[in-house]
Amino acid sequence: MKQSFCFLFLFFTGFLYSQQTDFVDFKTGDAYVSIHPFSEEVSGKVRYTLEVKKSIDSVLLDAKNMSFTEIKLNDNIIPFKNDKKQLSIKHHFLANKTYTIDIIYRVSPKKTMYFIGWEYPDPEVKKQVWTQGQGKDTSHWLPSFDDMNEKVTFDLHIRFPDGYSVIANGKLTGVENELDHKIWHYDMKEPMSSYLLAIAAGEYDKKTIFSDSNIPIELYYYPEDSLKTEPTYRYTKKIFDFLEKEIDVPYPWQNYKQVPVKDFLYAGMENTTTTIFSDAYVVDSISFIDKNYVNVNAHELAHQWFGDLVTEENGTHHWLQEGFATYYALLAEKEMFGDDYFYWKLYQTSQQLIALSKSGKGESLLDPKASSLTFYEKGAWALFMLRNKIGDEYFQEAVKAYLNTYKFKNVRTNHFIDVVEQVSGQNLDEFVEVWLQNKEFPEKEALEKLKSSALIKNIIAVKNNTTKISNLKSIFSDENIYHPLKTAVLQQSKNKSKEVTNEYYALAFKDQDIKTRQEISILIDTIPNVLKKEFETLLEDKSYVTVENALFKLWLNFPQDRTRYLDNTKKLYGFNDLNLRLLWLTLVLATPEYDSNNTPVYYNELSGYTSPKYHFEIRQNAFRFLYQLQAFTNQNLKDILEACQHPVWQFSKSSRQLLDTLLKESIYRKRYDQFFSELSEADQIFFKKHLSK
Ligand SMILES: [Zn+2]
Repeated sequence: MKQSFCFLFLFFTGFLYSQQTDFVDFKTGDAYVSIHPFSEEVSGKVRYTLEVKKSIDSVLLDAKNMSFTEIKLNDNIIPFKNDKKQLSIKHHFLANKTYTIDIIYRVSPKKTMYFIGWEYPDPEVKKQVWTQGQGKDTSHWLPSFDDMNEKVTFDLHIRFPDGYSVIANGKLTGVENELDHKIWHYDMKEPMSSYLLAIAAGEYDKKTIFSDSNIPIELYYYPEDSLKTEPTYRYTKKIFDFLEKEIDVPYPWQNYKQVPVKDFLYAGMENTTTTIFSDAYVVDSISFIDKNYVNVNAHELAHQWFGDLVTEENGTHHWLQEGFATYYALLAEKEMFGDDYFYWKLYQTSQQLIALSKSGKGESLLDPKASSLTFYEKGAWALFMLRNKIGDEYFQEAVKAYLNTYKFKNVRTNHFIDVVEQVSGQNLDEFVEVWLQNKEFPEKEALEKLKSSALIKNIIAVKNNTTKISNLKSIFSDENIYHPLKTAVLQQSKNKSKEVTNEYYALAFKDQDIKTRQEISILIDTIPNVLKKEFETLLEDKSYVTVENALFKLWLNFPQDRTRYLDNTKKLYGFNDLNLRLLWLTLVLATPEYDSNNTPVYYNELSGYTSPKYHFEIRQNAFRFLYQLQAFTNQNLKDILEACQHPVWQFSKSSRQLLDTLLKESIYRKRYDQFFSELSEADQIFFKKHLSK
C-alpha cells in the first residue's frame, strides 16, 4: 500500500512538472492586432516561430474565448482544437526542427483589455484602450502563453482609429495610414513573458528625455495636462540614472515609456519598456506634497530588471519581483529625500509587519498566497537586512551576478541565494530561515537595526515615554528635524493638560514645515478659541489635505463664520478626486444661509459627479457626500449599480457596501423597484443577482 502510494505520488509530480517549455521554445511572435474600440472587439493575426527541443505530438497556446478562422503550420492549413481556453495544434513536432504557426483570430476581451469611455459621444469624456496582463492573462486579447516561463520576442503592429496615440512594448519603427485608421509598428529586440505585453491608446502628448546612458525616456501626458508634467514626472531622470548605477547592469531594453490611463486597476504596471499607471498620480505642484508618482515611478522602473529581465518561475518566488522593486524604489527615494525619509519608511512598514505578525497572520515570503504587505514590504526588509549582513560591496556584486546569470530567463529564490553565498562566501541558512521561511516578522532584530537612525531612536523614545517631550520643544523651530518626530511629540502632548497641549500646538503652528502644520489639522477636532486665528491660517497652506481638514473643522466649530470660510475657498478644486470642490459643495448645501439662490446649481453639480464619465475617485467622493446629505437622485442610484460592476475593485467594493446600506431602508428599496424597468440589461441582471445573495 505504501509503496504503490509512493509510486503514484512520483508519477503525478513527474507529470505535473513536464511543462510545454521543456519540449518547445517559442522564439518570436509577430502580431497584427486590430482594435475596434466602439464594439470592444479585437481581430488579429499572429505568427509564432518555435524550436522543438524534444519531439512532441501537440502544442498548446492560451486563447480565452477566441474564435479562429484559420491556423497554418509552416504555411499549410491544418486542423486545430479550440476549447475556448486553449488552442491545441496536433502534429508530430520533431526535435531540433523549427516551425511557424500562423493564427487568425477574433475576440471580445472579457478582461485584460479595457475600453474606457467609447460609449459616450461627448468629446469631453476621455476615450482610451489599455491592457493589464499581470493576474489577468494576455491570452484574453492575443493567443499567447499564460506560463511566465515561455519568453518570446514580440513585435506588435496595432491598427487603431485615427486621432489617438498608440503606445506598446519596444521601439516605434513606423506609423502607416490606412483610410481613417493608423497602423503602429513596434519592435522588441529581446524576449519577455506574455503577461508583460501592453497596449495603451488615447489622446496623448509626450516629452522625451534621455538617461545618462542615452536611453530615451518618453513621458506621456494628456494634452490638457502640460503644466502637470513636471510635478508628475519629477525626478524621473535622477531615478533612472540612480538605478542604472546602483544595479550596475545596463537598462536591458531599447527605451522606456510611462503612460497614465483612466480607471487603472492598480497604481502602476511594469510592462516591458512601457509602464502604465493610474492618472490619479498625474499631479500639480501642490498635490505633489501629499500624493505623488515618485515611489511608483521608481518601483515600476526597478521591475524592468527585477520581473521583466529576470522573471519568477512561479508565485512561490514572487518576492524576487515585488520585494526587489520595493527595496530599490526605497533606495532611489533615499537618494532624493535623504536618510531620515528612508528609515522612517522602514519604521512604518516594520510597524505594519509587526502588527500582522502579532495577530497571528504573519506570512512566509515563500508563500505564493501571501499578501502584498508580505511580498512588497517584508521582501524589501529581507533585502535591507541581507545587505546589512554581507555589506554593500558583496550585495551589489551579488545582485549584478544574479541578473547577468539569469537575464531573459526565469528564477527561483535559491538561484539568488546561491549567487549571494558564492559572492560573499557566507552561509545564508539562518537568513533564509528567519527572513524568507518563517512566518513571524523578526521584530527585535529589525528594530535594533532601525535604532542606528537617531530619528527613529528619538521617535521610539517619545512614543514609549522614555524621554520628556519638554526637552524637545526646540525641534519645532528647527527645519532640519524631520516632521514625524514633531508629530510624535504633538501626539504625546495630547495626554497632558489643555494648557500644555495648546502650548505645543502654538509651537507647531509656527513651524515652517507644511507637514507639521498638516498634523495639527488632523489632530485637533475641537478648536480652542485661543487657537482659532492660527487654525484659520491653515486654509492658506499649500496642501490640499490640510485645507480639506481645516475647512471642514472650522465650518463645524464656528457656525457664525461659515459664510466667510466658504467664500474664501470657493475657487478651490484640490486633488484629481476634487476633494476640496466636493467638500465645498456639500458644506454649501448644508449651509442654508449661503448663496441660497444658487442651491439648485450647486446640487446639480455635486449630483452630476457620480456619472461614469468621471474618474472613479471623483465618483466615490460624490457618492460619499450625497449619502451624508441623503440626497440621491434616481440617476445617482442608477450610477451606484454601474459602479458596483466597475473593474477597479476598491471602487466596486465600496459601491456594493453603499448599495447594501441603502437597500436596508425600505424607501430606497422602493425607488429601485420603481425604476427597475428603465435599467440597462446588465444592471438588471446585476441587481437581481445581488439581491439574491
Ligand atoms: Zn511591483
